[in-house]
Amino acid sequence: VQGFDGQKVAVLGLGRSGLATAAALKAGGATPLLWDDSPESRARAEAAGWTCHDLTRNDAFEGVAALITSPGIPHLYPTPNRHIARAMAEGIPVDNDIGLFFRSWATPEWDNFDTPPRTVCVTGSNGKSTTTALIHHILAHAGRPTQMAGNIGRGVLDIDPATDGEVVVLELSSYQTDLARALTPDIAVFTNLSPDHLDRHGGPGGYFAAKRRLFAEGGPDRAVIGVDEPEGIYLANQLAMRREDDRVIRVSSARKLGDYGWSVFARKGFLAEWRKGRQVASIDLREVKGLPGAHNHQNACAAFAATRALGLSPRLIEEAFHSFAGLPHRSQTIAEKAGVRFVNDSKATNVDSAEKALEAFDNIRWIAGGLGKEGGVTALRAHLGKVKKAYFIGHSGRDFALELAPLAHEICETMEAAVAAAARDAEAGDTVLLAPAAASFDQYPNFEKRGEHFAELVARLPG
Ligand code: ADP
Repeated sequence: VQGFDGQKVAVLGLGRSGLATAAALKAGGATPLLWDDSPESRARAEAAGWTCHDLTRNDAFEGVAALITSPGIPHLYPTPNRHIARAMAEGIPVDNDIGLFFRSWATPEWDNFDTPPRTVCVTGSNGKSTTTALIHHILAHAGRPTQMAGNIGRGVLDIDPATDGEVVVLELSSYQTDLARALTPDIAVFTNLSPDHLDRHGGPGGYFAAKRRLFAEGGPDRAVIGVDEPEGIYLANQLAMRREDDRVIRVSSARKLGDYGWSVFARKGFLAEWRKGRQVASIDLREVKGLPGAHNHQNACAAFAATRALGLSPRLIEEAFHSFAGLPHRSQTIAEKAGVRFVNDSKATNVDSAEKALEAFDNIRWIAGGLGKEGGVTALRAHLGKVKKAYFIGHSGRDFALELAPLAHEICETMEAAVAAAARDAEAGDTVLLAPAAASFDQYPNFEKRGEHFAELVARLPG
């Protein structure tokens, strides 16, 4: 990280990204002052060779040039975290690793590159990881040097130095976009919007505002915008009005969009690209195994648009679709036993993503429940047509049963019981679908562990 040579920079939150931030600051000649309110996190940092600096002390911020916070720390609503509040009161700039990345990734050596490196950022409520991984996969398939980071495993400050023609693809959540001081991707992608994390952003307005920062004035060269929700339509029209219309690529998985400067949409299993009133490409998505369901067709359209904007050909992108294996825990078929398909969609932690899974499969034996989110699941009532029976687990199991009555169901409490009951009931042609519509934290450390547990139990079933 550049710009802090010889200066003190406070780093708040010592998870993965906090430690990567500290290392990157140090490498740039700064003195990172590390702090976390949790003694366990401090102990982990100390075990890794760092010394902590007590930010609760009165003089803690003396001579500090900036405070860099981790995405996990609530900082804007309802009140800023106390350390952040103090930094703000003392006039110290607050930023995060994404802001640092954009401040320093564009290096002077770029002038020597034949093709300057580019950045693609993906945000939205659902489909971020899938779209990010798909863009990365398409670029790799096309032989372009590419790295993927952000909310998808690797910290943005962990990535390797840029190479000629490289494309860095970043998945950014609203927890990251809300605070980054610099946010200047070459291409920005907005997948869709549904209520999520509202507690953290003070409601739907704040949540949209956080995501929208990626498209601010002076923002991306090209914006890829999902227009299946009113907010996306508004954002796309606003951007298009401010710039030439073909700087905005509109994406839909529901509607034909031929009238705009540039659009990509999926209908009846086919992806179509239109420019200035003419169709220029078409891809049959029905046989693309790694991207099942209309929601994945939305992701495919967004990734197609982003990689077209980078100059790739439709044929190359189509080939890459076919070799995309999909991401674990997202609409992932993990087994087929005696004609019964088992699908792990543990990442369906909110109502919208669960709804998409319930639309993507047939004859469903649905395993759902966990730590329910604000607003409940009554919105799913309109999407239960293909559900034969539900098997509810976790803290919200009984509430789900009440809210979705008269849906045929069993209260199973645990994943063991749910998998056993669903497997017992399933007939050939059924799909046993884990799509919880709830967070996992009541029974698991995270959604990955929940999905792995499901997969283990399925692997042990006979057949
Ligand atoms: P994110 O990174 O935004 O959470 P993922 O790609 O990890 O998105 O998918 C999260 C969940 O949402 C999964 O359950 C997945 O099946 C579902 N999903 C994926 N893409 C979409 C989409 N475009 N719209 C709605 N749900 C989606």
